[in-house]
Amino acid sequence: MNDERLQGPNTKIIHGGQHPDRETGAVSVPIYQSSTFAFESAEHGAACFRGGPGYKYTRLGNPTTEALERSVAFLEGGAGALGAASGMAAINSLYMTLLGAGAHMVAGDALYGPSRTIVETEFSRFGVEADFVDSSDPANVERAIRPETVLVYIETPANPTLKLTDIEACAEIAHAHGSVLAVDNTFASPHLQNPIELGADIVVHSMTKFINGHSDVVAGMIVAADEEMLERLRRVHVNLGGTMDPHQAWLVLRGIKTLGLRVEKAQANAMAVARHLEAHPAVEWVRYPGLESHPQHELASRQMRGPGGIISFGVVGGVEGGQRFIDAAELMVRAVSLGGIETLVEHPASMTHKGVPVDERLEAGITDDLVRVAVGCEDSEDLIADLDRALEQAMSGVAVGV
Ligand SMILES: *Cc1c(COP(=O)(O)O)cnc(C)c1O
Repeated sequence: MNDERLQGPNTKIIHGGQHPDRETGAVSVPIYQSSTFAFESAEHGAACFRGGPGYKYTRLGNPTTEALERSVAFLEGGAGALGAASGMAAINSLYMTLLGAGAHMVAGDALYGPSRTIVETEFSRFGVEADFVDSSDPANVERAIRPETVLVYIETPANPTLKLTDIEACAEIAHAHGSVLAVDNTFASPHLQNPIELGADIVVHSMTKFINGHSDVVAGMIVAADEEMLERLRRVHVNLGGTMDPHQAWLVLRGIKTLGLRVEKAQANAMAVARHLEAHPAVEWVRYPGLESHPQHELASRQMRGPGGIISFGVVGGVEGGQRFIDAAELMVRAVSLGGIETLVEHPASMTHKGVPVDERLEAGITDDLVRVAVGCEDSEDLIADLDRALEQAMSGVAVGV
């Protein structure tokens, strides 16, 4: 393919790795809803199983799924990618490929919940050890490395604290110790951040979020920086079985075409919302990488092409204030997840992190007053009107200092 055509970000998203269907010229990649593929001859079948071109069985490869794999691999600058049934299926294939008895992993302490829990409760049964450190200071990652560390795993920006981790610094640390750096790039999306360019070996995505973008599909992707890692991951992934269904792939292919438009709109809204929140008397603090007040604003400008669409802030009135805020939302949807076209609000202390012991939750920076807004693509004036309404409710019954 002539990559010279693909200069701007939206051109890359729409055309990168894509071509009309070779059989029919269909512009939208058809859904090859078939579990198996006929061989022309015994010799053709044998050649396919020797690793030659051609499809054999959908768990091992499917034309619709491959179109999406080529797209995400192109956008992340990887050698190739593997579609997964969910973000967690992608993450578990990554873990299963790299971890084993006696292996050690260093990870950020603010990982997506199940990404941490599965290591602590299940991989530990197979003799895997892990340390979870505050990776916003790379020195903590370096200190935790042991001779048997095979994987450094980070998420940046992290959920829901929006703490950032320096990808380039972590890649240097991991490689100096002969280990692999994997990055969960879900929060930023490939439109805003490309960890492989910064030295990462593997990128994983929950495509449920920004990449699909329409709150209607659960899906994941693993991207490998080089062919050797891709083949290692593929061997495990196709046998573990958490691969992608062609219909699911087609829906995500439809969603990804507008990734740039959606992320830019959500980000512009988020900036307007964050500035508005900063000036509001019912708001104690705002954490958004696009604000100068974010402690890693400089790192955000360096490793991301934009601050993204997610904001965390503290609302007056503690847990009850947070719940009053969420209850009063009329336009913003009370729901977990993020990266959809509609704005979603959640209150971690009473929802996603309710089951986490209070001291552990507070230590991770997830305070009682923290509200997370995953800003969508509505018009910012309407979002701000809804926020003001909800903030007024949060304030009711609370004496606000001036
Ligand atoms: C949602 C999410 C996941 C898990 O993805 P699923 O598609 O729900 O399995 C992993 N990492 C991050 C950062 C997420 O937000």
